[in-house]
This record gives sequence, C-alpha cells and structure tokens, in this order.
Amino acid sequence: MPISNPERYTVTAALIYANGPIHIGHLAGCYVPADIYVRYLRSSGKEVAFISGTDEHGVPITIRAKKEGLTPQQVVDKYYEQIDTSFKSLGISFDVYSRTSKPIHHETSREIFRDLYDKKVFIEETTEQYYDETAQQFLADRYIVGTCPVCANPNAYGDQCERCGSTLSPLELKDPRSTLSGAKPVLKATKNWYLPLDKMQPDIEAYVNGHSEWKTNVFGQCQSWLKDGLKPRAMTRDLDWGIKVPVEDTDGKVLYVWFEAPIGYISATKDWLIQKNGSDEGWKKWWQPAKDISEGQTKLVHFIGKDNIVFHCIIFPAMLMAEGNYILADNVPANEFMNLEGDKISTSRNWAVWLHEYLEELPDKQDVLRYVLTANAPETKDSEFTWKDFQTRNNSELVGIYGNFINRAVVLTQKFCEGKVPQRGELQEIDRNALEELAKFPGKIADSMENYRFREALALIMDLARTGNKYLADTQPWHVIKTDPERVNTILNIALQISASLSIVSEPVLPFTAAKIQEQLGLSGKTWQDAGNADLLTPGQPVLEGKLLFEKIEDSVIEKQVQKLHDAKRLNELEGKTVLPVKPEIQYDDFSKMDIRIATILEAENVPKSKKLLKLLIDIGSEQRTVLSGISEHFKAEEVIGKKVLYLANLAPRKMMGMESHGMILMAEDRDGSLAFVQPGKDVWNGGTVN
Ligand SMILES: [Zn+2]
Repeated sequence: MPISNPERYTVTAALIYANGPIHIGHLAGCYVPADIYVRYLRSSGKEVAFISGTDEHGVPITIRAKKEGLTPQQVVDKYYEQIDTSFKSLGISFDVYSRTSKPIHHETSREIFRDLYDKKVFIEETTEQYYDETAQQFLADRYIVGTCPVCANPNAYGDQCERCGSTLSPLELKDPRSTLSGAKPVLKATKNWYLPLDKMQPDIEAYVNGHSEWKTNVFGQCQSWLKDGLKPRAMTRDLDWGIKVPVEDTDGKVLYVWFEAPIGYISATKDWLIQKNGSDEGWKKWWQPAKDISEGQTKLVHFIGKDNIVFHCIIFPAMLMAEGNYILADNVPANEFMNLEGDKISTSRNWAVWLHEYLEELPDKQDVLRYVLTANAPETKDSEFTWKDFQTRNNSELVGIYGNFINRAVVLTQKFCEGKVPQRGELQEIDRNALEELAKFPGKIADSMENYRFREALALIMDLARTGNKYLADTQPWHVIKTDPERVNTILNIALQISASLSIVSEPVLPFTAAKIQEQLGLSGKTWQDAGNADLLTPGQPVLEGKLLFEKIEDSVIEKQVQKLHDAKRLNELEGKTVLPVKPEIQYDDFSKMDIRIATILEAENVPKSKKLLKLLIDIGSEQRTVLSGISEHFKAEEVIGKKVLYLANLAPRKMMGMESHGMILMAEDRDGSLAFVQPGKDVWNGGTVN
C-alpha cells in the first residue's frame, strides 16, 4: 500500500556510472522527472532529501579506463566533475551529488554486507568461473567474448549478445576468449556469497504485490521476474576495482556493484549531512521507519530508467528486508527509453545529444530542453527526440503560447499602466470565469505531479498559459484603452495575477523561466499553496520589462545539430575501416590490355525496378555507347549528365536487367563507401587515352 501522508520524502535519482558524459536519454529517463517532482514537493512545503551521485565501481569503469589509457580512479575523477557540473547547469537541484568512491560509502556498504553476513543471510558457494591465466585474473562477464549460442554472432559478451539481445552466461558462449589477453580462459574454482532471492521470493512478492499502483511498465517487469522464479545472485565478485569484501581471506574480491551501488543512496544521505552539519547525525529519519509516531513516516521514491527496475524493485528491497532496519521504496516511477532521430541512443556509437555540448552550443536554453524532454517524456512507452520537434515545440509552444502571454501582460502594463500592477475595478463575467479557472489549475497540476504524470502536468501548465492568452484575446485591452482605461486596469491586473500563478506552477519544469518572471513581477517567497490566488500581486507594485523569455530557434541552428549527428554516424562507420592490401603483382602487358578512355556522359536515366543501376549514354569521341553503371544509390541521374569520366572501353559487353552494357565507368570508393568519379585534371577531349 502506498503511503498517503508522509512527513517527509527521500527522493533518489539513479547513480550513473562515472564512465561517460550525460545525454538526453538519461535526462528524460530519470533526472528531469525526478527534479520536477522534488521541486514540486519543495514548493508544496514538504521536507525532501534529493539524493544522487556517481557509481564509481564495476566493470564499465575498468573497461573505460582501459580504452582511454587511464587508471579507473582517473576515469571516475574526470567524469564525476563533468557530470556534476552539467547537472548543476541544467538546474537539477540535488541536495547532494555524492560518489561511491567516498570513504563514507565504503564504510556503509561494508557494514551492511557484514551485518547480512553475520546474520547468515548469504549462501557461500564455490563455483567454476572463467580465469585468464595470462592476465592472472578472473574474468567479469564483460571481459569474455565468444560465439552466441542463439544467433552465432562471433562477438557476443559473457552476459549478453548485442546482436540478438539474448541474456547469456559466460559458460554458454562457444569458443570463449578473454578480451584482456585474447587467451582462451580456463575454469577455476572460486568462492562467493549469494543472496538467496529464491528463498526470499514470498516476501518480495508480498512487497511488490502491495504496490499495484506502480506504473504498469514497472509492475509488469517485476511480475515477469517473479513468475520466472528468482535465483540466488552473487553479491561478491572476483575483481580488483571496488569495495573490498569485509570478510577474512577474501583478497581479490569486491562487493558486487549492484549490491553496493544502491547503498550509495544511503551513504550519499550521510555525506550530505556531513557536508552540511559536520556529522551524519539525523540520517536515519530519511531511511528508517519512525520509532515513535511523532517522527512520522518517510516516503522513499526511486527515479530510474527501465533497465534498472529489477535492482530497485527486487534486489535492493530484498537486501534491506534482510537487514531489517530500513524502509522500502514506496514507488519506483521508472521511465522507458527515449530514442533519437529514429535510432536508439548509443554512447559507444556517439548517437546522442550530450548535455555538456548542448549547454555550450545552445546557451541559456536549459528550460527549452527541460520542456521538450518533459513534453515528450517516455513515461509509458519509448519516445523519440528529434531536432525538428525541439524547434517546433520551442517556436510554437514556448515562444508562441507561454512567452507570448507573459510578454503581452508585461508590455501592456508598461504601456497602459505606467509599469505598475493596476487596481482591479468591478468584475465582469469573463473576469470571474478566468479567475475561477485559474483557481482550479494548481490542484489539478498537483494531482498529476503526485502521480508521476509529468507530461500531463506540463500539458495543464500550458493550458493555463492558453487560458491567459485567450483572456487577453477576448478582452482586447489594446482596443478598450481608447474608450475605457479603468476597464484595462482590471484586465491587466487579472492577466498579471495569472502570470504570477503560472510562474509558480511552472517552476518545477521551467525553473530558470519562473525565476525571470518572478523578478519581473517582484514576486518572491510564494509557495504552491499561493498559486491560483487572485491577489498574489499588490496594486502599485512595479512590473519590470525583462528580456524575452524565449527566442525563436532558426532552421540553421537545428540543421547544424542534425549535421553533427550525421557526422558522428559517418565517423562511426569509418572506425575500424582500413586500407585494403595491394593486389598481387601484374606485368605491364596485363595493364596495357586495358583500353581506358576519356568520355562524357550525355544522358542518364534510372533503370526501372533496379535500385542500383543508372543507364548512361556516353560520348567516347568516335561513337556513343550505352553503359549500365551501379551508382544510382550515390548519384541522381540529373547530376551526372555532363560529367567527364574515365571509361574502360574494351570490357566485354554484359547483360543486366535485360539490357546490354558496353564497357565500364571507373569510380573511386571513399572510406565511408561513398563513390566519386575519376576525372582528368584538365578538359581532355573525348576519346583521349589513359596510359
Ligand atoms: Zn546472439
């Protein structure tokens, strides 16, 4: 059962591996919704701890280190800085952004492990694991590649085949090899400690089934794990990067990263208090059940992406249940994935919009990104980010609706009311209706926020801006001013009161914009409870003309971003391509048999039903010839007409698609597979020979 009236909230956002920068998929999946939720809670006067940090252990860190030629410590230091800075710049308002490499985290994780160990929760098991004798170490799943038993992909990883998506174990791979040394790994016995999830299944089931209010994607994924039957899972690993196992004679073993990473939320809470107060005193109220009722209940909410559901809904709660002193997550509002321009976001393929680059290339547009990622959030199913959509939402929604309303209210006040909030006179029906409508919005938006429906909340916020626009359009103060200035005072008072409320309810999504509006209106210290009130602004109070809240984004800006993605794709395709070796030696006589001539393309047309062929008519000086050339995927018919080319004139005729081709046009192939014509350096006559 969900907690209905908590005293306080512990809100966590996923601990991301410190092995690369943040992209829009991370933001849409977890960080932006978490920040909206927390800002809403704070505005409503709730006590909140907003906790996150970087995950600095685990194999992905060591793999990155190897790739960049750095030590794991250098890798996490580098990316922690970058991630922390870019989150701050986007206005993600963590109370603490900690790191799992901090001593407080090592200590907390070891304590919890040792406690479970002493309570004999773990099963000790000796298994055979792959060991690389050359590198002298046990191999994590990601360090083993081999042939996928399902699809025969020769480069499947020990935990997963990226071609067919099958989940694998290293022992299932055919012809396994170590990515460290290339050697064939051998099986070697090793002892590890397992969490007996199979035995704990009834308790976990009771917990999950008590939360049928969870999002269907989350609840459904949990049910599918439970239906398959939970299996014991090793909580220690043979690896040298991580938190040492707090048990005697366990050299070379560390805590499983998914054992200690979620504990990072707890240790980050302690870290926050230490940074703030010099000691971690008081951390328990955020994580443990109230001992006496006056302390009240704490509601724990984990924001994560869908790939982390099992760890937050099953494994971490199982650990905490076994420990016995902790509250369990009340909700885990995981999002699905956001795709980019028709393709999955991929770090390794550099198919992403990187936050640190966005902030640099589109300065002062933090709220535009927050807006677009929320309007299009993958809350119930995968969604897609395109730059075209980004531009449209900015230009027609933020500029056209939201910005337009606030700007009109402020500018008209400058013009007609000496830049001060005017006094309301007698109200007409249209005024009363507008104020009544205004009063309903904060409650409706709050309901969406509390149920993690941030898209819906944002749609309502935009409806409030539309209400304001409609009110101005219907009351037409710019006409009324000629006949009835008193009436204009009433209209603009109401428009400004709507603007004030709009700034409060949109602050969770658009914090930078809300701050600008509040500065213009001289509004400060107002909370969610004040929103909807028709008297937020006092008559006579100055209204400042500010800069425009949003500006139109031109096509050229968007085209540049799209081009950047295509460049990344191209570079990516080039990676690993090498120059072909030279063919076996020939004699001059072999070469001289070829009659290569200069020719000009006179006509070109597509060959019906052929994807590749263009039918060309060429002038070779002495005559005209028809050539079928496999270039139509690279060139349009009209763009090759008039081209001077090199032509192999004495190649035996070939039949293709029912037509005869005479000779061959010579083409050069570039590294990315694109083709180029080979042409003489000056305008040589048709029929000229090439020797
Ligand atoms: Zn496969």
